[in-house]
Amino acid sequence: MNYYNEHTVLWLDGHIIKASEAKTDLYGQSLHYGYAVFEGIRAYRTAAGATKIFKATEHFDRLKRSAQSMNMPYPYTTPELTRATYEVLEKNRLQDAYIRPIVYAPANMSFNLNETSYTAIQAWEMAPFLGEKLLKVMTSSFQRPNPKGFKIEAKAAGHYVNSILASQEAKANGYDEALLTDMNGFIAEGPGANVFFEKDGRLFTPAPGNILPGITRATVLEICRELSIPVEEGQFTPAQLARADAAFFCGTAAEVIGWESFDGKPFPTPWTASVSRQVQLAYKDLVIEKAPQPVTL
Ligand code: PMP
Repeated sequence: MNYYNEHTVLWLDGHIIKASEAKTDLYGQSLHYGYAVFEGIRAYRTAAGATKIFKATEHFDRLKRSAQSMNMPYPYTTPELTRATYEVLEKNRLQDAYIRPIVYAPANMSFNLNETSYTAIQAWEMAPFLGEKLLKVMTSSFQRPNPKGFKIEAKAAGHYVNSILASQEAKANGYDEALLTDMNGFIAEGPGANVFFEKDGRLFTPAPGNILPGITRATVLEICRELSIPVEEGQFTPAQLARADAAFFCGTAAEVIGWESFDGKPFPTPWTASVSRQVQLAYKDLVIEKAPQPVTL
């Protein structure tokens, strides 16, 4: 993957600089200890041709909450960072893009507080997911971090060592992705996405507490309200998910992506006949600000 070339620019603490000339500190506390917070955001070319950052406010508000919960100095407002992001998109001529803001610490080999943070905003091209690809998912042998050991609702860099281990394990076993349980064995989320499953026309998703409560998850809940699809948030076991009619992951990068099978067992309802598919279609329309099509369930 080519994230940047010699023309790419990024935003670093108020300055637009060339990505190829940006430097980071090998003595940094973030590199050594995973002590940084970040966001994953998408921009889309809308149906009208404009460039629109999807849920910019929600993402930058979460970045601020993540930084504050990690005791990291955070000098910016959400409107400032939103404006900076539009500048990065424009300067790089990007419309369909993935945006990665990161707040990271200076050189510091101790565990002490810092007086400053650095904030960078990078972006690269990412086309919306249009295909009908379905995922083969396995139950991970890794559990999500215990919320008593981590600020699990923060999007902190160090948490993603757990995601990397789970995702690599799934791929090494011939699957596309992992599903992780929480420390009590209930289903929690994917390495970088929340999970929903469908049974008899109803959707089920893990309640907040042991997951990153995703912005896409919140959007899916809104879509369900609009389409009058009943949803239950709660604690569910992998065995309940295995008896589902359909399931999907949702996240900024993943969007809404259906599952073909869970632990090698295919789902009985064809994806195209599921209620979940209606949610996927509504999400696709929403991100590009296309007027919703009438849906027949
Ligand atoms: N869970 C985890 C662990 C994630 O990394 C992500 C991606 N940010 C999500 C869920 C989905 O969150 P969002 O919809 O806000 O992208």
